[in-house]
Amino acid sequence: MEQADNQENLGLDRGNSAEQQPLRATVLVIDDEPGIRKGCQRVLCGCACEVLLAETAEQGLEQLRVRPDIAVALVDIKMPGMGGLEFLSRAAELAPELVCVVITAYATIDTAIEATKRGAHDFLTKPFTPDELLHVVTRAIDHANLVRERNRLQAERQRRLLQLATEQSRLKTVINCMADAVLVCNAEHELVLYNPAALRVLPRVREPGRVYRLGEVLEPAELFALIGRACEARKRLSQEVKLVHLPEPSWVLADVAPVIDEDSGQFLGTVTVLRDITELKRVEQVKAQFVNMVAHELRAPVAAVDGYLSVILDGLAADPEKQREMLQRSRERLGALLKLVNDLLEVARIEAGAVRREIGPQSVADVIVEVADLLRPLAAEKDVTMDLCLSSQLPPVYADRNELVSIVRNLVDNAIKYNRPGGRVTVTAAPDGPYVRISVADTGVGISEEGKRRLFSEFFREKRPETAYIVGTGLGLSIVKRLVDFYHGRIEVESVVNEGSTFSVWLPYGEPVPERASGGEGFAA
Ligand code: ADP
Repeated sequence: MEQADNQENLGLDRGNSAEQQPLRATVLVIDDEPGIRKGCQRVLCGCACEVLLAETAEQGLEQLRVRPDIAVALVDIKMPGMGGLEFLSRAAELAPELVCVVITAYATIDTAIEATKRGAHDFLTKPFTPDELLHVVTRAIDHANLVRERNRLQAERQRRLLQLATEQSRLKTVINCMADAVLVCNAEHELVLYNPAALRVLPRVREPGRVYRLGEVLEPAELFALIGRACEARKRLSQEVKLVHLPEPSWVLADVAPVIDEDSGQFLGTVTVLRDITELKRVEQVKAQFVNMVAHELRAPVAAVDGYLSVILDGLAADPEKQREMLQRSRERLGALLKLVNDLLEVARIEAGAVRREIGPQSVADVIVEVADLLRPLAAEKDVTMDLCLSSQLPPVYADRNELVSIVRNLVDNAIKYNRPGGRVTVTAAPDGPYVRISVADTGVGISEEGKRRLFSEFFREKRPETAYIVGTGLGLSIVKRLVDFYHGRIEVESVVNEGSTFSVWLPYGEPVPERASGGEGFAA
């Protein structure tokens, strides 16, 4: 009876309104009555819906599994097997975006409440006309579209938020890891962002993360003024600034960039990057001192030699013995000059990185004997005795002979120079594990603790009354260190002030390994 009524009510004679409003959606009709299924199909197909039919709730669920595009399900409440209400619960899990309309012959309040609880969107009470069907299905499809759109927007928003969070965290990581201090200010001169490196130069920032007024926390005034000028001029400005307010005053290169909104041209604030250039400044200063020193060291012997020659040429020293003495002095002064020039060239040569080396097996004992012979006159002049203690088991060291000579010569030369009259220099060489150890011990002025720390840096010379009159360049040990590093060796010093020093060098005697950037060959450690 119910079926007959529905068939009659669902006649297509009243379904023409559907053609004017194409719905374009996939609708699933689940009903055990063939008349309802067919009737719904005819009406809905007529308005551009794709209609899928199921005789049972189980079949309906199967359809949902294979067709995720189903937007609306019309489901009969009372069916053999699984009922419509249970279908609603299962469908909610399977297809959360599905909009369900229940078809029922007994539209009681209780059924309505239960169906709504389980997610039904609307009702259709049997018998219903094609227009009623279309009305309800149109609303359901609209709702389904809304739900899908809302979910899509939500997902998009989530994705964007996630993307933004990732971008922000990436940016934060980069800024936080920077060694340079980064200070971001808004147009109101408020410090809105700063990285951990910035905290070092902002000792007045007590609560990291808080927004401060720039004037409250930024020192010195020079830096504050620079940011002010960049804001006014709307252009990037750079300046070296000395940070005198820190416990250890340092230099920074401050680079202030105005931030301008690309679209509106509005000024948004500034980004200031402070690069620590203290070390550069120190090197600059040391180099300036060095140039001074070199100029002085060059002028003194040249002037002395010039003086001796003038005396001889002007006939003021007629005595041949006197002349000879002057020429001898000139030679000594020129010798020292040559040493300075050679040291400078050596540093420049190593510094340039393009060193030509002739690496081969070298006898350390031969090198030490050669250097000792060379420096014996100097030792005698200083009244210093030289002892050699060379193991007969020394394996050859793979090195450039000139560089090996340079290492030993610099150490022995210092041991004589910084010794005391009547002192002693002992050069020892012996195998030590995979190394050959060369030690140069003296009984001289020794080196202070501070001196030991700075000994191998270029141009360092210890300023003590005992060393004031000893000529030197402060380059010898830095040359030794560079060479020892190149050969994968190491150098150590033990020293007691006024008692003496021992410099020890370990050089590996392994076969050289090919491929090394600076010298074309390398060494097995
Ligand atoms: P230079 O001897 O030409 O000044 P070096 O680089 O060889 O340059 O040495 C650097 C400084 O280290 C010296 O000026 C000296 O103060 C200290 N020094 C080096 N060797 C010794 C040593 N054997 N005894 C005491 N001081 C030394």
